[in-house]
Amino acid sequence: GKWVYTFGDGKAEGRTEMRDLLGGKGANLAEMANLGLPVPPGFTIPTSVCTYFYAHGKSYPKELQAQVEKALVHVGKITGKVFGDTKNPLLVSVRSGARASMPGMMDTVLNLGLNDQTVEALSELSGDRRFAYDSYRRFITMYSDVVLGFEHHHFEEILDTFKDGQGYTLDTDLTADDWVDLVGKYKDAVARETGKDFPQDPHDQLWGAIGAVFSSWMNARAVTYRKLHDIPESWGTAVNVQAMVFGNMGETSATGVAFTRNPSTGESKLYGEFLINAQGEDVVAGIRTPQDITEEARQESGSDKASMEAAMPEAFKELTRIYTLLEKHYRDMQDMEFTVEQGKLWMLQTRGGKRTAKAALRIAVELANEGLITKKEAVMRIDPASLDQLLHPAIDPGAKRDVIATGLPASPGAASGEIVFSSDEAAKLQADGRKVILVRIETSPEDIHGMHAAEGILTTRGGMTSHAAVVARGMGKPCVSGCGTIRVDYGRGTMSIGSRTFKTGDVITIDGSLGQVLAGRMPMIEPELSGEFGTLMAWADQVRKIGVRVNGDTPDDARTAIKFGAEGIGLCRTEHMFFEETRIRTVREMILSEDEQSRRAALAKLLPMQRADFVELFEIMKGLPVTIRLLDPPLHEFLPHTHAEVEEVARAMNTDPRRLADRARELSEFNPMLGFRGCRIAIAYPEIAEMQARAIFEAAVEAEKRTGKAVGLEVMVPLIATKMELDLVKARIDATAQAVMRDTNTKLTYQVGTMIELPRACLLAAEIAESAEFFSFGTNDLTQTTYGISRDDAASFLGTYVSKGILPIDPFVALDQEGVGELVKIGVARGRKTRPKLKVGICGEHGGDPASVAFCHNIGLDYVSCSPYRVPIARLAAAQAAL
Ligand code: ADP
Ligand code: MG
Ligand code: MG
Repeated sequence: GKWVYTFGDGKAEGRTEMRDLLGGKGANLAEMANLGLPVPPGFTIPTSVCTYFYAHGKSYPKELQAQVEKALVHVGKITGKVFGDTKNPLLVSVRSGARASMPGMMDTVLNLGLNDQTVEALSELSGDRRFAYDSYRRFITMYSDVVLGFEHHHFEEILDTFKDGQGYTLDTDLTADDWVDLVGKYKDAVARETGKDFPQDPHDQLWGAIGAVFSSWMNARAVTYRKLHDIPESWGTAVNVQAMVFGNMGETSATGVAFTRNPSTGESKLYGEFLINAQGEDVVAGIRTPQDITEEARQESGSDKASMEAAMPEAFKELTRIYTLLEKHYRDMQDMEFTVEQGKLWMLQTRGGKRTAKAALRIAVELANEGLITKKEAVMRIDPASLDQLLHPAIDPGAKRDVIATGLPASPGAASGEIVFSSDEAAKLQADGRKVILVRIETSPEDIHGMHAAEGILTTRGGMTSHAAVVARGMGKPCVSGCGTIRVDYGRGTMSIGSRTFKTGDVITIDGSLGQVLAGRMPMIEPELSGEFGTLMAWADQVRKIGVRVNGDTPDDARTAIKFGAEGIGLCRTEHMFFEETRIRTVREMILSEDEQSRRAALAKLLPMQRADFVELFEIMKGLPVTIRLLDPPLHEFLPHTHAEVEEVARAMNTDPRRLADRARELSEFNPMLGFRGCRIAIAYPEIAEMQARAIFEAAVEAEKRTGKAVGLEVMVPLIATKMELDLVKARIDATAQAVMRDTNTKLTYQVGTMIELPRACLLAAEIAESAEFFSFGTNDLTQTTYGISRDDAASFLGTYVSKGILPIDPFVALDQEGVGELVKIGVARGRKTRPKLKVGICGEHGGDPASVAFCHNIGLDYVSCSPYRVPIARLAAAQAAL
């Protein structure tokens, strides 16, 4: 077999496309060599050797050694040197390189091949003894650290002691003789601590380093990183062995890193840093402050140290030529490593550069405008999920974080504020102009006002689709949920994590994008929607097939969604209007009424409020479709809890508090989510549905009068299991519509449809579609009812399921395509069989998850509906699905 691939001298056996075999680093080194760029020659031992290594008890294919020897001779020929030679030694670096860039693997070893003899040869050849011994001590340090497991800090201690003894402060104070002295001390320390002399044979050194790279594939850090980033273990890593070039040969030598465009803003300007007389990692290690590359950047930073452009004009010119060429060739922003050895530039790495979401947008749009990529490619280049970063405030990336606990990243963005433990308190403080973070064990619909008032929400229970998470995302507020390490004590007004305790009024920050809770106030950066954002979204809309609507209950939601490009409201949940502080008492009167007459009296009070809500919503949506769902949550959730609440309602209803308390007990449920909710309410108490329908239709008449535009009205009945349920409720809705039209002497067009959120409804979709004019799959409840998992209680075990691989991912976050998705497919197919033009959408949280959006596109849905801040994500994901 072929186990070694060489590169250098204007050609290579590999190329970019061979990334799987050669790893990212190796494939790009080969490509650069093929492009004729100055790359120190070397060779790559491919990932197939890594696979072999683990399949054969950590041994190598038998041809490997001979092939490595041959490649070393080849590299020696190009450089005019010989590996292991005591007069003219070839020195190499040994670098790991997996398919995906992967921190946590073995660090690179530089200057390999140095020993007590070759260091003298290096000194002779370079005429610089200090340089030679500086290189040798670096090699001993790196090799001991990564191959022998003798850690770095031991050497630092020896060095510090030495410097103290000599009265030195800087490394540059050390003379050649000092380094010679230190190298001796270093080797002694290694021999003493590891029980073996530092290896002197360059071949032993090389195989030691190669073995260490392959072994590092399975070290704990690498294994963890792979888990977190879904990198399969089977990929393996490659090893690159490459002739050394020296950036530490004095003032005409340097090492640096550069990006072809600015990775945080995307601006099209070379961006980077370099260090004169330095090697490898010195730039990132922060030992000395690096210098700017371009003169313009130096002027901007105000640095008094020369830029590369000024200090090394020739090498800079060459770098400019090369970076322009590389960006054209790869058609993307590149992140490059280079070294200048005595004035000559060498390229050591290039790869697609990591960038912020903001930079990614700008780069994609500008590359398309420059004609380097197509608009479609630009659309494909942006990770939809990353748009979240742009739409919410974020913690200043430069700020130091004191993370006190980590929970689930339930709703993105970040916020700081005083801790409050109750929603009433939150509302009160906010009214005084204070900023608060609402901390609860979990939230319920009664916390809406507190959540509205808070800057952010932190809960210790509940998953990604818990009440807190769903509502926070809808509001566009940061939320960390299920933060189980925090103990909340409402009584004392404290929360504690281990030995740390925070009390009401203490300031914390939550980062809902990462799920972190931090002590104190953090500096924030505000989002701004750039011109590139609008441009890219417009390109996305040109290719998108599936519609994007919003789940929005309030005028605020509707305005935000329109700004983000929503094409209608896919789900307006009317209950949120009921929970408002001023209305909940009337709602309780209505529920606790013992007869229809008193229920109607309470409903009459709610009617004008509900109507006003809808008028505003319809006006904002200007004729776009608006799907309004009738009351859905269990009545249980509205019941008064405290004695005082019972008394208050009793007073308003003019009844005996004890009787009222009995009635509340009657309505209290063990399992409310499967209880008295959804269309079951409209069937038991038709006057509730009637009031809502009246409010909806009267509002439509009013809005049409004001805007002159017909409202795109869709009335939706929740939680249907049988056609009969829908028919009963629909009859009430239609009758009310007729009555309103008659009373107002107008004509309204509207549709009545249903939410499909029970498996039975999916199976009986053909029959239900005889009455339903549209379907909207409520995939939150459908997931809940398909799995039999209560999403509010899932946090305690779902994590285990995911970590054991029983579930690939939380099914409330990404639609379970095989199970729940299959039910959706069945529902669509059966529904459309009856009614070919049946309009079908989804309105669960999944409507904003890119993979789920792609699924909805593939099975032919008409639209997805998601929370306001996810609208752009859904638009982009839908476009990518169509490409
Ligand atoms: P990482 O993947 O951590 O960046 P690299 O293998 O790219 O590790 O190397 C670490 C540092 O050593 C980089 O600055 C790189 O440019 C430098 N380096 C690697 N090989 C050589 C070499 N042959 N000559 C000079 N510098 C090198
Ligand atoms: Mg590198
Ligand atoms: Mg539902």
